[in-house]
Amino acid sequence: MIINGKELAKEAEASIASLVSAMPRPPRLDVILVGSNPASSIYVRMKEKACKRVGIRSVKHTLPESATEVELLTLISSLNSDSSVDGILVQLPLPKHISESTIISAISPEKDVDGFHPTNMGLLFSGSPSIAPCTPKGVISMLDSIGFSYDGKKAVVVGRSNIVGKPMAVLLLQRNCTVTICHSHTRGLASETRQADLLVVAAGQPKLITAGMVKQGAVVIDVGVNRTADGLVGDVDFDAVSKKASAITPVPGGVGPMTVAMLMGNTLEAAKRRVKDAGI
Ligand code: NAD
Repeated sequence: MIINGKELAKEAEASIASLVSAMPRPPRLDVILVGSNPASSIYVRMKEKACKRVGIRSVKHTLPESATEVELLTLISSLNSDSSVDGILVQLPLPKHISESTIISAISPEKDVDGFHPTNMGLLFSGSPSIAPCTPKGVISMLDSIGFSYDGKKAVVVGRSNIVGKPMAVLLLQRNCTVTICHSHTRGLASETRQADLLVVAAGQPKLITAGMVKQGAVVIDVGVNRTADGLVGDVDFDAVSKKASAITPVPGGVGPMTVAMLMGNTLEAAKRRVKDAGI
């Protein structure tokens, strides 16, 4: 089975759009882009288009590559205190002279729709309700869509970034999987991945996972997006692995569209909480 992320994202966006239309005012997402990284510009455009599709108001702030950390912090501070702003997203990566952790920590946790703020991460890791990062949340939504039964399953997550690997492992742990996290220092990666009933790969290494590294019948989720001479490819050798997996996500058209749909969902949730808190 190929898990069609594009189709699932469409369905998720349709239900988000109907909830957005029931709001007293459209939710507002402010996206900050620093510099002119071509991939970042594409991602920001995709997010703006998704906002339009679901009825979220998006406002883009573009700062030059030379912008200072203080300039960016000043902008974030003004958006934090602007009551018309529901969500703030700073597109990563940032230029080298700006500290990503300082910037992420400056965003008000209630407006942190990426779910990267230490407060939201801490809530997620302690099992409290929080804004979960969009990519792992999208993966869970895809697994739910195929009726994946998590309980007691052996899940292997390849990659330990704060954005994907770590929160992914926690979401699977909360669903009673037995989780192993692999990374670039893992010894014997193949012997770990071969044990997985569920394999989630977010390493950023084209075709890292070959058929010999996957158990027959495993569910394989490929988060990787790698720009190569052959175009966009994932971290999984799709042609070979799809013959062994019981379900697999393609790249493109897999996790990517779901990530964007989850961002729309997180923005709606942030707006709903703010409307409720304001007693509207
Ligand atoms: P990252 O570079 O921050 O982390 C990569 C992780 O993979 C690290 O923990 C590293 O230890 C591990 N790794 C690298 N090489 C490895 C190897 N040979 N064996 C085992 N582990 C290895 O990257 P990230 O931000 O987590 O993103 C990972 C991939 O997912 C990238 O391709 C990125 O473009 C993609 N991504 C996709 C989406 C989406 O929506 N589809 C969202 C975020 C990231």
